[in-house]
Amino acid sequence: MKFKSFLIWFVFANSIIAQKPILVGTASMFADMARNIAGDHFDVRTIVPIGYDPHTYEPTPNDAQLLYNAQIILKNELTFEGWLTELITNSGTKAKMITLTKGIEPIRSKAFHNATDPHAWMTAQNGVVYCENIKNALVEYDPAHRAEYEANYESYKNKLKAIDTKIKEEIQKIPEKQRVLITSHDAFQYFGRHYGLHLESVLGTSTEADIMVSDILRLNKVINENNVKAVFIESTINPKILNQIATDNAVSIGGSLFADSLGDSLSVAATYEKMLLHNASTILSSLTNNNLNKAVTPQNGQFPFFGILGIALFSWWILSKILFKNSN
Ligand SMILES: [Zn+2]
Repeated sequence: MKFKSFLIWFVFANSIIAQKPILVGTASMFADMARNIAGDHFDVRTIVPIGYDPHTYEPTPNDAQLLYNAQIILKNELTFEGWLTELITNSGTKAKMITLTKGIEPIRSKAFHNATDPHAWMTAQNGVVYCENIKNALVEYDPAHRAEYEANYESYKNKLKAIDTKIKEEIQKIPEKQRVLITSHDAFQYFGRHYGLHLESVLGTSTEADIMVSDILRLNKVINENNVKAVFIESTINPKILNQIATDNAVSIGGSLFADSLGDSLSVAATYEKMLLHNASTILSSLTNNNLNKAVTPQNGQFPFFGILGIALFSWWILSKILFKNSN
């Protein structure tokens, strides 16, 4: 009898908590897109927490419970969530599975034969395709709110299109020879192809591979040949190797880019839109910046040196103006 009353209470409690259908995105940027389109009609959740690496994520029993309770699951595919198939099987979920990259021509992975590059969301243009797939899934599940989902999608799509245009303009401002982007892992191929940047990375399209000495030598060569001014770390990846490459080549760390996760709610990349704009403006300012001390991060210990050097040069410039003022 005790168990039966517990069961009744449990079902009742769940019916209150789970009033809204649950929509789960594997990664934070997909959940954010979904929130923009779903409005108040879905309880939108994320599997991989903010700041975690989805390539190497290890699902928890709570994730299985979440998927079991979910009505819709949004997944990227293209080898992004290698752990998802097993998690779905273990969870016993009956949720509708939505492939967000449906309709996008995938880029072949350079590093791995017969593999695709999963990072299609890195352009706002592809983001629109992701959102169209989300909107279609919401309309199919909940046709009563069709007009609302369509309107939310249209307004979000227009914002993403404006962001797409802005990023194109920003990247065009970088002198053509300096449009070389060096990152921790190969997450920017879609970005580079669409917006016109040449890409090099320490790791391949996944973060699971080991770093080879040949990778480091290749990057050193690219940096020297192209007079690259900055390399970029990523929010989900240990920056140790890139810091070393930056030090070895006396180039600066251009800032932290976001690829596989949004930042937390207070960060510069709290939403998908902010993430896209932050990446573009960081790349623009670092690749066009001739003033090294602005881009070097203080934790390298190089900031005081370049700071003092900068002050010394500036003082010399002022002094020379005064001293040689009458020599012409
Ligand atoms: Zn990645």
